[in-house]
Amino acid sequence: MEKYWNIFISSFADYGGYLWREILNPSWGNYFYWLIGLSLFFWLLEVILPWRQNQAKIRQDFWLDGFYMFFNFFLFSLVGFNAISNIGVEAFNDFLGLFGIKNLVAFEVQSWPVWAQLLTLFVVRDFIQWNVHRLLHRSEFLWRFHKVHHSVRQMGFAAHLRFHWGETIVYRTLEYIPLAMIGFGIQDFFLVHIFATAIGHFNHSNFHVPLGPFRYIFNNPQMHIWHHAKHMPRRYGANYGISLSLWDYLFGTDYMPEDGRDIELGFDEVEKYPKSFMEQQLYPFKERQVKEADNTPVEDPQKLESA
Ligand SMILES: [Zn+2]
Ligand SMILES: [Zn+2]
Repeated sequence: MEKYWNIFISSFADYGGYLWREILNPSWGNYFYWLIGLSLFFWLLEVILPWRQNQAKIRQDFWLDGFYMFFNFFLFSLVGFNAISNIGVEAFNDFLGLFGIKNLVAFEVQSWPVWAQLLTLFVVRDFIQWNVHRLLHRSEFLWRFHKVHHSVRQMGFAAHLRFHWGETIVYRTLEYIPLAMIGFGIQDFFLVHIFATAIGHFNHSNFHVPLGPFRYIFNNPQMHIWHHAKHMPRRYGANYGISLSLWDYLFGTDYMPEDGRDIELGFDEVEKYPKSFMEQQLYPFKERQVKEADNTPVEDPQKLESA
């Protein structure tokens, strides 16, 4: 037990120290400044070449989402996820040890060139995340957490990182085993993470760029806005792609009936959804009780209009 406690405490100290060093040392390998740089870049595109020209440059919830960005990218890790996950990994390895399993690696890719490993990591991880995202829409319990992301009513780059910290736990936990089974030789996933963050910012930005045939590979604002549509003909939604739109085209979950520039965003009764950060963090845990007390029937996961 003491081992786990020590991991817990040192994780906080390690991550706190790491974040502080990041802030003090701007460099090309620095997450903190990349996040700021990418955000300024997409915000500038929104200002110069907006898709919805009448949307304010500082749109509704701009600052709320800005806070979410730093919370989910940095503070949540600092406050707890790093500590919890280090313990989880250690406990999981101890558990495997009971069966004499020393590691999970089933596919050795260490001898591959670095670019091939990075590409594999990017594609495999994105496919896992596409599946996790579908699950967030299918499960009534998980949908309560994912609704925070869908409570965005005016779209802009920073909406990318408006999500409940519970999602981080679901994604990282479900990703862990499959990724651990591939014996990547690279320890630093920096490039993949930054690239995925850039595409995520792009998908949510108020910006239009014709991608030509690349739209069948990469997710984009014109496709992702339909994922956020308030009214959908499909009960569990569509366009689940995170970085790649490819999976939606391959598995028939793509949906772009027309130009979605001005469609209404959110879900049923989104106007009644809590608006502050703290309320949004707590609401998934009490939504059911609130609705029961109200006598409002508890809705199906993303109840949607029929076509
Ligand atoms: Zn979603
Ligand atoms: Zn989104």
